Amino acid sequence: MIKRVWNYLSRYKGMLFLTFACSLLGSILALIAPRIIGKAIDSVAGEQRINLDALGKHIGTLLLLYLSSFILNRYAPLLANKVANFTARDIRKDAFEKLHNLPVKYFDTHKHGDIISILSVDIENMTEGLLGLLTQMLTGIITVIGTLVFLAIMSPFVAFAVLLITPLSIIIAKFITSRSSEMFKQQQNIIGELGGLAEESISGMSVIKTYLLEDTQYERFKEINARLYKAGQKAQFYSSLVNPTTRFVNHISYIAVGVSGGWLAINGVISVGQIAAMLSYATQFAKPINEITGVTTQMQNAIASLRRVFTLIDAEPEKEDVSNMLEVKDGTVSFEKVSFSYDSSVPLIKDLSIDVSKNNVIAIVGPTGAGKSTLVNLLMRFYDIDDGRITIDDTDIFDVTRDSLRKSFAMVMQDVWIFKGTVFDNIAFGKSDATMEEVVEAAKNAHIHSFIETLPKGYDTVITQEDLSVGQLQLLTIARAMLVNPPMLILDEATSSVDTRTEQYITRTFNRMMQGRTSFVIAHRLSTIKDADIILVMKDGSIVEKGNHVELMKMKGMYYDLYKKSLTNISN
Ligand code: ADP
Repeated sequence: MIKRVWNYLSRYKGMLFLTFACSLLGSILALIAPRIIGKAIDSVAGEQRINLDALGKHIGTLLLLYLSSFILNRYAPLLANKVANFTARDIRKDAFEKLHNLPVKYFDTHKHGDIISILSVDIENMTEGLLGLLTQMLTGIITVIGTLVFLAIMSPFVAFAVLLITPLSIIIAKFITSRSSEMFKQQQNIIGELGGLAEESISGMSVIKTYLLEDTQYERFKEINARLYKAGQKAQFYSSLVNPTTRFVNHISYIAVGVSGGWLAINGVISVGQIAAMLSYATQFAKPINEITGVTTQMQNAIASLRRVFTLIDAEPEKEDVSNMLEVKDGTVSFEKVSFSYDSSVPLIKDLSIDVSKNNVIAIVGPTGAGKSTLVNLLMRFYDIDDGRITIDDTDIFDVTRDSLRKSFAMVMQDVWIFKGTVFDNIAFGKSDATMEEVVEAAKNAHIHSFIETLPKGYDTVITQEDLSVGQLQLLTIARAMLVNPPMLILDEATSSVDTRTEQYITRTFNRMMQGRTSFVIAHRLSTIKDADIILVMKDGSIVEKGNHVELMKMKGMYYDLYKKSLTNISN
């Protein structure tokens, strides 16, 4: 993992080097200061007479040292901030790009709240951690090593005394931080869970309200929240122990310097000034160790987050082993003995075969869960079949790129997706070079042009999903599909009620779109598919009846029953 982080960091080598140089120089200058203080003290407290000249010189040097160290120590974090934020930007970019290369399965099997939390909270944690590493950690380490070196130069004996105590401080701090890091990890996971619940509640609010599930959701929230509280408290408890304990150990090192230095001074080995300098080092020594242990918790938190970010970046993308493009000539489609299941222990589609001739309209009907959408998932390669073959114009869909396969279809689905943008951009979505004339033409064909004209800025009006009705949204996506003009179609009729006029528009535009194109229609209203060339009746992943309307009615089977039922529903 360190190597991977370095791969990102090394893109900003120059800035990183400068950060390092500034921190190093700033810390060394600050380390020289106690020695000068010692000399200044000696110049007035030495055995010789008070030397005011020397004192003035020392004070001047001290001022200069503190000033330059101050400037360098201010500048270094600014640089570190830049490096951390640039690196975070790059990692965020990779994670976001990855999101678009992941198969549909990934999103079906991972909670959306978790993914969102990786892209927001985890990347933020990681940036904070990186910043801590480049600021407190870096200067801390330099100061600790520098102090020991300076002490050793003045008196190896005192340096050794301090060195003996340091590991104790580190061991205690480490013991505590490893505990708190575990708690932080737990806390992070629970935050992800909470995000998932929040997302679920928000997206399903109307359902929750309808079924009066507010209390159930609230109970679930309370349970997760209680766990979060406990984990958070434990994490805080352990991390708050770090500072007092290390400070305690550092006070011991202060005493060690005082006693060992005092003994040396009494024996005339060192001067009073030197003892003052050493004590000053001992206090300087305490701060960075506290800081280092302080950021270790943050760093551990960041590492846990970084792991999650890298897991997302490393998730198996949709692999593309071929480069051939699908070129649709006729648009014949066939499923040959296709088998598929989402979960290998629950078989869904077994040995399914369908042959669809050029320009045919295939309607797929059947109860919910019969496998209608699954057929579309397989045809579009959102999921890959386990066995058998799916071909388009005799080309196996595994022998062409997914992009070219998906481009050959226009999909108008129930859950319409539009983004916050102008009407023009939303229609021209699949054809980036579309002109206004083409967009208007498509909108006219989709019977949505006159509605768009009534919007305040016409095609330039910025819209969001909430601004349009279900029917208007579907017409808009039909316009989008018409503009792309693909050789094949997949239509999923909206189940949500649209007004009769809009429904007529939709049916009419669907029919117009289907002319001259092989089309798959997932039908919810049987009245609209009477003219389909083939109607497939599905149940539990299998095709139980196949034929046109007249043939199926004659069979008096499942289709007959469904059709009869739909007529009674209408008359009711
Ligand atoms: P339909 O479109 O006819 O309502 P689907 O094709 O959506 O039916 O579903 C067929 C079966 O596969 C159902 O039992 C459904 O629960 C299951 N299923 C659908 N999508 C997934 C998925 N992404 N992961 C696991 N199982 C799924």
